[in-house]
Amino acid sequence: MPSAVPSATTTGAEHIEPAGNEGPFVNGFNRKPNGVSTWPTNGHARASSVSSADTSNPTVFEPHTFDWNQHRGPGLTHGYHEEEAGGPRSRAYARIRSWGDDPKTAKFPRISKPMELMRTNYDCVVIGSGYGGGVAASRMARAGESVCLLERGKERWPGEYPDSTGDSIDQLHYSGELAPGWLPKKIVEGGDPTGMYHMIFGNCQNAVVCNGLGGTSLMNANVYLEADKDTLQLEAWPKEIRDNPDCLDEYYEKAEKVLQPEPYPDDWPKLPKLELLEKQAKYLSMEEKFRRVRQTTRFVNGPNSCGVEMFPSAMTGQDCTGLNDGSKNTTLVTYLADAWNWGADMFCEAEVRYITKAPYPQEGYIVYFAWHGRNRGHFRANLHGDLMWVHAKRAVFLGAGAIGSTEILLRSKNMGLDLSDKVGENMSGNGDILGFGYNTDHEVNAMGRPFPSPYHPVGPTITGIIDNRSGHDNPLDGYVIEEGAIPGALAPFLQAMLELLPGSIEPTGEGLIGKFQANLARLGTAFLGPYFRKGAIERTQVYLIMSHDSNQAYLTLKDDKPVLEFVGVGRSDHVKYLNRVLEKATKAVGGTFVQNPFYALLGKQQVTVHPIGGACMARDGTGSTGATNHMGELFTGSGDKTHSGLIVTDAAVIPTALGANPFATITALAERSVDHYAKSQRLTIDMTPNDVLDLFGSPQHKHIHNRKRGSVVHVDEVEEIAKIDSARNTIINARRMNDSGFGFTEVMSGYIHRDEGLKRDNVDTYKLAARRAESLSETARFFLSVQSFNIRSIINDPNHRAMLTGTFVCPTLEGSPFMVQRGDFNLFLLDRKAPGTRNLTYDFDMRGINGRSLHFHGYKVVDSSVALSPVQFWKSTSTLYVTITETLPNADRSCADADECGLLGKIVAKGIMRIQPQDFLSEVMTLTPTGSSIFRKVVSAGNFLTFFTRKSMSLLLAPLTPLQYPVQTCLGFVNNTPPTRTFKIKASDGVVTSLHMWEPTNTSIDTRDLFMIPGASVDHQIYALPTIRYNAVNYFRRAGYRVWITVHRIGMLMVAQDDWTTFDARLDFKACLEKIREESILRDENRAEPEKIYTIAHCMGSVALSTGLLDGTIPAKWIQGITCSQVFMNPIWNLANMIKITALPIPGDIFYKFLLGDWFSFSTSKNDSLLQKGLNQLLRLMPDSRKELCNNASCHRTTMALGRCWNHHNLNEATHRQIDRFFGGVSMTLMHILMKQGYQGGVTGNKPLFERLDTHDNIRRLKGVPIMLFVGRDNAVLSLESTEKTYEILTDTFGTGDDRSGVRYRRRVVPGYGHLDCWMGRNAWKDVYPFVREEVDRVVRGDGYRFDEPNDQFKELVESGKLLY
Ligand SMILES: Cc1cc2nc3c(=O)[nH]c(=O)nc-3n(C[C@H](O)[C@H](O)[C@H](O)COP(=O)(O)OP(=O)(O)OC[C@H]3O[C@@H](n4cnc5c(N)ncnc54)[C@H](O)[C@@H]3O)c2cc1C
Repeated sequence: MPSAVPSATTTGAEHIEPAGNEGPFVNGFNRKPNGVSTWPTNGHARASSVSSADTSNPTVFEPHTFDWNQHRGPGLTHGYHEEEAGGPRSRAYARIRSWGDDPKTAKFPRISKPMELMRTNYDCVVIGSGYGGGVAASRMARAGESVCLLERGKERWPGEYPDSTGDSIDQLHYSGELAPGWLPKKIVEGGDPTGMYHMIFGNCQNAVVCNGLGGTSLMNANVYLEADKDTLQLEAWPKEIRDNPDCLDEYYEKAEKVLQPEPYPDDWPKLPKLELLEKQAKYLSMEEKFRRVRQTTRFVNGPNSCGVEMFPSAMTGQDCTGLNDGSKNTTLVTYLADAWNWGADMFCEAEVRYITKAPYPQEGYIVYFAWHGRNRGHFRANLHGDLMWVHAKRAVFLGAGAIGSTEILLRSKNMGLDLSDKVGENMSGNGDILGFGYNTDHEVNAMGRPFPSPYHPVGPTITGIIDNRSGHDNPLDGYVIEEGAIPGALAPFLQAMLELLPGSIEPTGEGLIGKFQANLARLGTAFLGPYFRKGAIERTQVYLIMSHDSNQAYLTLKDDKPVLEFVGVGRSDHVKYLNRVLEKATKAVGGTFVQNPFYALLGKQQVTVHPIGGACMARDGTGSTGATNHMGELFTGSGDKTHSGLIVTDAAVIPTALGANPFATITALAERSVDHYAKSQRLTIDMTPNDVLDLFGSPQHKHIHNRKRGSVVHVDEVEEIAKIDSARNTIINARRMNDSGFGFTEVMSGYIHRDEGLKRDNVDTYKLAARRAESLSETARFFLSVQSFNIRSIINDPNHRAMLTGTFVCPTLEGSPFMVQRGDFNLFLLDRKAPGTRNLTYDFDMRGINGRSLHFHGYKVVDSSVALSPVQFWKSTSTLYVTITETLPNADRSCADADECGLLGKIVAKGIMRIQPQDFLSEVMTLTPTGSSIFRKVVSAGNFLTFFTRKSMSLLLAPLTPLQYPVQTCLGFVNNTPPTRTFKIKASDGVVTSLHMWEPTNTSIDTRDLFMIPGASVDHQIYALPTIRYNAVNYFRRAGYRVWITVHRIGMLMVAQDDWTTFDARLDFKACLEKIREESILRDENRAEPEKIYTIAHCMGSVALSTGLLDGTIPAKWIQGITCSQVFMNPIWNLANMIKITALPIPGDIFYKFLLGDWFSFSTSKNDSLLQKGLNQLLRLMPDSRKELCNNASCHRTTMALGRCWNHHNLNEATHRQIDRFFGGVSMTLMHILMKQGYQGGVTGNKPLFERLDTHDNIRRLKGVPIMLFVGRDNAVLSLESTEKTYEILTDTFGTGDDRSGVRYRRRVVPGYGHLDCWMGRNAWKDVYPFVREEVDRVVRGDGYRFDEPNDQFKELVESGKLLY
């Protein structure tokens, strides 16, 4: 960082405060020491050298010769380098290598912000950052307004500007209509649209402007020349100015105080080009019109008017490609640095396209822009289609330059903004003429060099002027001639160009010796290069003329691209006359006069570096003669009505050529417009001077958001500010830690249907919504840039997070297009909802142009279905399931399941978006690593790609990846459901099992007992599952049931290893029922007979229950009704299980028993026996559909023994990952009887007879017991036929229904479910439990009973969407 306190290394002379330089911007350090000339030195020896005479009357065209002696005191004659004991400074000072103390972290300041930090609205939006934009940004920030500045180019500081030919060509952007006289006109566009040098082709005249933070001030020649009063009095100017041209004086003064122009000091090295111009002035009899012109080049060290540390000119002559020595008072180091210091937000690579009025009820304007950052230009169609925007609540200042602002206004007009028809008219090239005096007899040294010798410096590009503006009858005859320097980047071509261009005018009357010398010089350059001191190029004078042209040019849009028409400029008589003047001046010094290359090559065309006009001030205060009023405010049409706060502050407002370099006048007019605006709004512009700025630190004045004018601070604005602060911290920390990052841009498009009822979060709902949306043409598209500022956060953080910025367009949603900022992107986030699944999620709040906020949640599902299928992998990673919800103020969306949080809030719309193949190709081109060095970038790219490939491969090659073994800790146990009491139950054969009881949570309903029987190998947890938010026990307790669950002898108990069967387990149920009955009597002693008990039984629990009922062990009269999950008395294996039984030569159970023993445990570990481990590996080969593949060893073992017990996507990750905690094992004895029963299709007794129990007589025992059977449609354990058969038998036996007894048999197939997921599934609370409860309620409480939902936590969870997976 440049030192905060300048070291005033003077000769000890007194400090004198010169008049005219104590303005508000002059800080305490920036004072003139007394006459010390220390060029070029590192100390802050000499400060601003504007004499009092200079500022007293800026519009008088006295030569501004600077007299150092005035400041030095008598007798002191410090010459060039006198101060330098060690000789001249080395040429290395011509380029700043770093502005920072620690060049490792940041070499150059950055006062613009990343787009991620933009707010959605500001008081003022400023477009462009040249003089017009800079003034508006600085003044409005100082007035306490929140300011957003949008600049098309990039931010570059001195030291970063190109100086070689190659680098300069990289920065070239050309556009416009190429109209060479001899070829058809053609719209052209090429190069980097944010590159520094912008060449705009036009008819008859071409223009050169600059893009970048600092505008064309970055590449201009620094000449600060006020417009002459005669010109300001021309008819074209508004009355307020032409009648009182002095009104600009105070604003010129303001501009001077900031830009600090001063002439090239007398005591600095002599410059041959300046001396030659003086000679030429004499030859033209204009010696009294010659002078050194004031320029915004610094010739001293020290902070400038705005507090930015500056350096003296290294005299490179490179001003027109950007000065790297830190001596140029561009707007970057003055107005913009000041705006930054007063809290303005500036954003680069933001090309404004058009402006509209903000939709009601908002005020102000919406400024639409294309963001070129993050390589978004690779999406050509989207860049200018899917525009980002920012809301200007009060004012928009257009400072995009004459061509830029006019283009924006023309397009705005096309988009419906009412404007005057004069927009685009009255443009001028400021009468610019460029010419060369090639190979004169004099040394000129006008070829810029990045590192000139301090003994032979080129000098600033322009230092001298022949000011021929005064004394003409017609002010339009006035003009100025200046000498120039050619940037070194053009050196390689210059000679060829000057020699080959047609129409050059050679000197006449030269003697033989003269001709010989001239040819020798040409040869010298040709062989020894352009810098050969005696060569032709080193003897070439460059001329720049500014004069008056006809102001008849205009700008139009052709195919939405700006086209310039400068009719007849190059061919006018005036131009011919001026060319003759230059010819004469050249001839006098023995040179060949060469016109500018465009003149010769493109049919007498000119090139201007001073385009002005296009949105001119009206001369009569109405839109019929101009686009703006005298303050730059745009008319709404041809009358005098203006758009409040829509103000042009740049060269576009100037209604006529100035005949002088324009930026002094542009700046003064901008100061004037902004001053008028501030006064009209009662804003006070605080002119407190800045301290020396710490450009790597924080601004000295933080903008207090919305402090002005009693603005209401909305909750979402507060939230936005908090989010910006958090994003800023992320970015700053990444910079401080010198982290590297990674980013890319993505376009996805599809269909989104607006419907508040689309609550379900399943693929079918998304598909239906998308199909409906397609039929209604409800299209949607986003254009988002994903940026990780710290590569570690996307790779190592479990949320794999990056930031999203861009737009979302969906015309069906009011407020579209939406701005997306600081959104969350999660790459391969573990999906807690579904096992073996990873998601790519997109979560963001987005703001519509109507000010409304919505939340976007989208996820891509990459699950086992992608295994070994690249096509499916592409489909999965390119399909996004989208839900749009209302934004919840202060919603905590940072909960553990990032994907679920996105679904909070009221649903607005749903649909599907996809990546199109051509967009994918563009996306690949945008992949960009960031980092402070190439090495870091390479590492960053490597890390990201490795991570991406690793994750992709682990899913793509899932079956080949290592097996997942049980974990030690309890992951995702979110719902601990301990029983109220547990009883030990002793069956009639002495076997002891457990019975858990939960009291109801809803006491407003009459409590009834509900008995639930789990299947084989499991326990009560399948109903009281801790890994889902709402389990069956929670559900039935809430419905007023006292829930009893048995853990029986074939369940997950030690006793299960004692070879018990389903038939034996019936004894446990009987004992349990006895206990429940006993307890009911104990609770109500008056009761003579215990109540009947409704029973729910699952799978083999249900089979076991049926055996007890069929053989009469359990009296049917104890039972009020039964819900049988999957099966009852007719187990029939599903096909896969059937094959296991029938296809193997030896039955599986016998084979297993022989090899590994009688007990098969579903749990396993890495430390299991070799055989078990071998079995685990073998089980990977079990065939199943791709989407059901998984890597969990316990899951494989369950499937092997019982068949696949679930549709994987119905379980959540925590349940699946810990399946061993919910499954015990199975004995081969049990397996044997199960296989037998399942094969035969009916329940049996024990061996040896295995007697069938589902006989007609036994079945009659079930008379009067209502039974509901349900089964998952995808059941892979039992065939759907099991329940079908039972249902048929029951209805055949007892009839379909008997209204008198209320007995009904029901059967239900549950779509999308398998077997045990009907109870353990994450969404069973809505897909299964309700219809079971309805049946239980119907039977237990009667047909007329209606369940009233209590207002409890469950209801809240459902309504807030938190339970919706
Ligand atoms: C080589 C050269 C030498 C010059 N020398 C002198 C000189 O010595 N003295 C002098 O008085 N003048 C000189 N000029 C001209 C002077 O620099 C310009 O007249 C002056 O900079 C114009 O100021 P401005 O504010 O109107 O626009 P500019 O300074 O051109 O700034 C416009 C800014 O807006 C940006 N912009 C454009 N379109 C958009 C958009 N759609 N969205 C967002 N941003 C946009 C541009 O990138 C640019 O940064 C020179 C010009 C050149 C090219």
